[in-house]
Amino acid sequence: MAAIEMSHIVKRYGDGFPAVNDVSLDIADGEFMILVGPSGCGKSTLLRMIVGLEDITSGDMVIGGTRVNDKAPRDRNLSMVFQNYALYPHLSVYENIAFPLRLAKVPDEEVRRKVEESANILELHEHLQRKPANLSGGQRQRVAMGRAIVRQADAFLFDEPLSNLDAKLRGQMRAEIARLQRRLGITTVYVTHDQTEAMTLGDRVCVLKKGIIQQVASPRELYEQP
Ligand code: ADP
Ligand code: ADP
Repeated sequence: MAAIEMSHIVKRYGDGFPAVNDVSLDIADGEFMILVGPSGCGKSTLLRMIVGLEDITSGDMVIGGTRVNDKAPRDRNLSMVFQNYALYPHLSVYENIAFPLRLAKVPDEEVRRKVEESANILELHEHLQRKPANLSGGQRQRVAMGRAIVRQADAFLFDEPLSNLDAKLRGQMRAEIARLQRRLGITTVYVTHDQTEAMTLGDRVCVLKKGIIQQVASPRELYEQP
């Protein structure tokens, strides 16, 4: 069974051309799937429909065997990392990472253990008391990832997570995301318009154009195309 099954997904904003137009795509358990394509091709809209931040006009979204079309984001057990990181400025790194656990009313002792574990994986343990404003771009990105991995989610969703970083850091964080995903073995959907990210990170790449899937293939298959 696929971890995420999309069949004939359509999204219309108003009465224009659909932003996502009859997308059917199965993402396997543990797979790293890239959604790539030019600006406006519908990548973010598709990701937001997976996570539940956008209503689906028609089609079926099935996650872990359950149809989730009408489920609120908090009932989908997914972790999303946003482009702008969406950290809480008034909270420490510790509390930013702990946030999903606090929402779930996890006991303090367990929160502490899990936050420390996530912070260690992401090398944030020395920064737990700092506020986001006092962190570098790369560190903020790590905090956002720490918040995503602190909870046992069914999948990670990334929306252009590296686009605010400079080229050097982008390369470094790319390697880190790849390592993290392999280590955790968690199903991942990753939106980017960056060809290098698409070709180096994904098990498979889904190429979108004007809301329509052009092809779905492994990076190797894409390279070897005539
Ligand atoms: P991408 O992530 O590939 O850049 P988007 O999913 O953001 O593409 O957008 C796909 C299309 O849907 C674009 O034409 C965009 O203008 C349109 N769109 C996105 N969000 C909205 C919205 N909230 N209201 C109306 N149109 C939108
Ligand atoms: P509570 O906030 O419910 O009292 P804790 O006793 O676990 O929960 O933590 C108190 C505060 O101390 C936390 O909100 C957090 O900011 C900080 N804290 C706890 N453990 C650590 C730790 N290992 N490293 C850094 N800060 C921590």
